Amino acid sequence: MISLENPPGKRSPVQIRLASERGFCFGVRRAIELAQRAVQERGSLESLGPIVHNKQVVEMLRSQGMRIIESLDEMKGDTLLIPSHGVAQSIIQEASARNLKLIDATCPIVRKAQQVVHTLHEEGFTVLVFGDASHTEVKGLLSRAGKGAIATTQVPEFDTSLRRIGILSQTTQSQQHFISFLTEIVHSKLPSLAEIRVFNTICDATAKRQRAALDLSHEVDLMIVIGGHDSANTRHLADICRSAGVETHHIEAAAEIEPSWYTGRERIGITAGASTPEWVIKDVVQRLEQAAGER
Ligand code: SF4
Repeated sequence: MISLENPPGKRSPVQIRLASERGFCFGVRRAIELAQRAVQERGSLESLGPIVHNKQVVEMLRSQGMRIIESLDEMKGDTLLIPSHGVAQSIIQEASARNLKLIDATCPIVRKAQQVVHTLHEEGFTVLVFGDASHTEVKGLLSRAGKGAIATTQVPEFDTSLRRIGILSQTTQSQQHFISFLTEIVHSKLPSLAEIRVFNTICDATAKRQRAALDLSHEVDLMIVIGGHDSANTRHLADICRSAGVETHHIEAAAEIEPSWYTGRERIGITAGASTPEWVIKDVVQRLEQAAGER
């Protein structure tokens, strides 16, 4: 906890508290290290989409020699980096057909979820992914799930001929929402199904950051959540803080902070998504310290 003492005669101290679990997870660290090593060894590297959902990290790696491409047709070199959230199976096959060297930075937790999907499909289950169908990780899961697989955050209408459903979650979803989703499915769909198999594929780093954010939200009167606006785990952190009833703002960088947010606040909480670098968190803290000193 950082406590900011104001000069004598000014208002009471403002406290800035950092969530006990925040920022880079092991999967993001690993992906960045793999990319940096590959760029150093090979001189160039191309990543299919952003390596992680954080602009500052992508810019840092771009400045070190990594290119971001949107499709394999844009490849200039011979080495392709698979981002931390994985890619569809068809991309791996296409890269192999083009004789590209692969640096696979898929997070091991995401890879485990991909294996779960594959096993469910092999064993004849219809796969249901609790997650955002437009997210790259979920697209990668669906690509391994066979015909009839569904990705959604709402309980879907089932084909009445389905008998066995295998359910897992996008790794960065809210645990609480996954539990509610499962409860609703069991209540409304179990009578028409022979079997429901559930895998808890929400990653531990995500769950820890969610718990720490919720705990901190109960102790402060403003929460700042730092991370890419396209980062699913950061958006969920912000939703969790709001669900605790505290005013919450999701920002990517210190420059987005508005004075009206912190005016009159006594306790400000800060957390950050799993792809947010520590230097961005420090920038935000410094900005708030400076503002508190000017009160
Ligand atoms: S948030 Fe979890 S699943 Fe995603 S990269 Fe980090 S450790 Fe892996």
